[in-house]
Amino acid sequence: MKYAAIRYTSAPLEQGYTDRVLKIDLSSRRIAIEPIAPEIKKAYVGGRGYCLKFVYDGTTAATRHDSPENVLALSGGPFCGETGFVGTGKFIAGTISPLTNTFCDSNVGGHFFPLVKLSGFDAIAVTGKSENRVMVVIDADAGEISMVQAPEGDVTIRGAEGLIEQWKGDGKEANIAFVTAGIGAQHTWFGCLNSVYYDSRRLRCRSKQAGRGGTGTVMCEKGLWGILVKCNAHRSNANHPANHEKVLAAGHKLRDVIREVDPQAMRLVNQGTTSLIDMMNTNEILPVKNFQFGSSEQSQNISGKVFEREVFKQNVPDGCYPGCNLACTKGCENYVLKTGPFAGSRVGVDGPEYETAATASNLGIFEIDYMLEYSWYCDQYSVDTISAGVVMSFVYEACERGLLTEEDTGGLKLTWGDAATALEFLHAMAAGKPGLPAAAGHGVRYMKGWIADRAAARLKRSREDIRAELSLFAMETKGLEFSMYITKESLAQQGGYGFALKGPQHDEAWLIAIDQLRKELPTFEDKAEALLWFPLFRTWFNIVGLCKLPWIDVRNPKAKDTPFPAKNLPTVDYYLELVNGTFGTDKTLDDLLLESERCYMLQKLINLRQGFGTREYDTIPLRAMAPVFMHEYLSRKDYYDTYLKDAAGYSLDGSSNEQRLSLLHQYRRAQYEKLTDVVYKEKGYDQNGIPTDESLKRLGFDQPEFPDIVRAARERVNGIEQAEQERSAAH
Ligand code: SF4
Repeated sequence: MKYAAIRYTSAPLEQGYTDRVLKIDLSSRRIAIEPIAPEIKKAYVGGRGYCLKFVYDGTTAATRHDSPENVLALSGGPFCGETGFVGTGKFIAGTISPLTNTFCDSNVGGHFFPLVKLSGFDAIAVTGKSENRVMVVIDADAGEISMVQAPEGDVTIRGAEGLIEQWKGDGKEANIAFVTAGIGAQHTWFGCLNSVYYDSRRLRCRSKQAGRGGTGTVMCEKGLWGILVKCNAHRSNANHPANHEKVLAAGHKLRDVIREVDPQAMRLVNQGTTSLIDMMNTNEILPVKNFQFGSSEQSQNISGKVFEREVFKQNVPDGCYPGCNLACTKGCENYVLKTGPFAGSRVGVDGPEYETAATASNLGIFEIDYMLEYSWYCDQYSVDTISAGVVMSFVYEACERGLLTEEDTGGLKLTWGDAATALEFLHAMAAGKPGLPAAAGHGVRYMKGWIADRAAARLKRSREDIRAELSLFAMETKGLEFSMYITKESLAQQGGYGFALKGPQHDEAWLIAIDQLRKELPTFEDKAEALLWFPLFRTWFNIVGLCKLPWIDVRNPKAKDTPFPAKNLPTVDYYLELVNGTFGTDKTLDDLLLESERCYMLQKLINLRQGFGTREYDTIPLRAMAPVFMHEYLSRKDYYDTYLKDAAGYSLDGSSNEQRLSLLHQYRRAQYEKLTDVVYKEKGYDQNGIPTDESLKRLGFDQPEFPDIVRAARERVNGIEQAEQERSAAH
């Protein structure tokens, strides 16, 4: 059934842009194509920049994730779809998140957005709500965009080949792609958005996920089953860069570096991101038992080498989009599911990625079969593997600490290492089973209150007291669950998570490797500088539609001769050649950073407008800074005692373990606050984390609406401080 349709003509791509946005209003069933003004393009570039702009313009301080006006924005960037370069299949999904109540975005690869661009659009902005589930179809070949009845049944990954066969008509499977979200996204706040495409090498559909922040949940709340794009136009040189030869030459250089370095380094092409497991375990960074510990002897069962040898056996190039020879999108064929609604089915599993594998170690599970099963079901259900895994491990620890009982868990006996029960928990959570599973689907922040409510009466303690205990090990900040790195021994990564505008996700600042492993940020100043530079440069990847891995995970051999090797500047030069080859410009790295800074500032302003964004929202749980409980400290007592003496300068003579742990807490908290002060200054914020008037002006945010947002935030903070002073005076 067709509810609405328009005829249209594809706009040609020029220098990576079509300069058009496709706007879909599900309430009024309006489909409209609008131009993107040159000043918007100049200021926000594309990708995350466009998502921020559409979400900012379309929402207000009162908008919640399920408000009809909430915008679900999707956008690639000028380089998205450039087959002559590396890592160009990426796009961004951004919205007001159910978990954080402010802007959150997630990047995802695959063929979907390159095909959307070929079909004539730089962005898609979806608003409104439909009572019955609909699908939007962009059929560039037929010159029609329509809103039609959604497919029957629970089709996300499973059954996708059938849908593609049905939809392809005279075209090729490879020229069809869609985004969708399944039942887990309907029942949780961390529903992900699947980007599904046909892989002609593996002869099946693959899916990549915009995992973080509940973009899939918002899609479901809007009554949108998904968006399908169909376009058989030629992809080669489709972006029409100003100087195609220059772009191709830059792509060749980067591919040569990858070919030379990756086989001797991370082996992403063979192991995917599972290659990180060993590296993290060796350096006490692999989360084990809800981030209590950073390593386990059992991790040898799940190392990248084991995945390479036993799981990723098909030797096919696994780039998520043509042009990428880092090709890290590994997968496993013919896996027979053992649990859940599809038990017995033979499926192809995409991944698991490092982050997904680490959610298993974080439950004390070191079994590859569990990881495959968990990964496939999370994708099929459309739930973020990270948030789902972290909320599960939080609940496990609450059980371990006696804050939840089997009565609270509905009979689930949650013990570390029990794979069968963990999967039972996942299936129940995705199905929205009443009780613990449905509650856990709202994430860690929500669960603090849920657990405190139950434990307070039983333990005869105050709700606040229990909440405070839970907050020590509840791995969330701003409402988003931590991604999978132990940060206790990396102050830089603590800041990377704490100051990240959307919450603790490493895509804004992944500094753990250069800080803790390579020791490239030895001083406080080095860390602070990195916390300014890396978020900005990483933001740039997200605004232009590029994957960061070829830059950050493949160190150019020439980088060692540069003053700051971690920035990998010789490879950054290839990106500059891509930029200037595409636009016919002479831009410098500083120009790119300035573009990022503007987008970064808009994100900060959205956070402030929504009532967040100040210093208190940049705090991180103690578990992210230090061992919380005595058994964690004792597990690395020698290390911590040496640290307290050598790094912190304490004399430990005659002190008890309790006193040492307390010193460690004080010292680590103070270090984090000190870092916060310095980084805020570098970023152009005041000590409350609010941008100064000069910063706003420098970046062009001096129209009255922006200073008004900042003023309101200052008043809010002043009001809180005054109320606190009055409270302490009254006591
Ligand atoms: S490095 Fe991996 S995720 Fe990035 S574009 Fe290439 S295949 Fe995709």
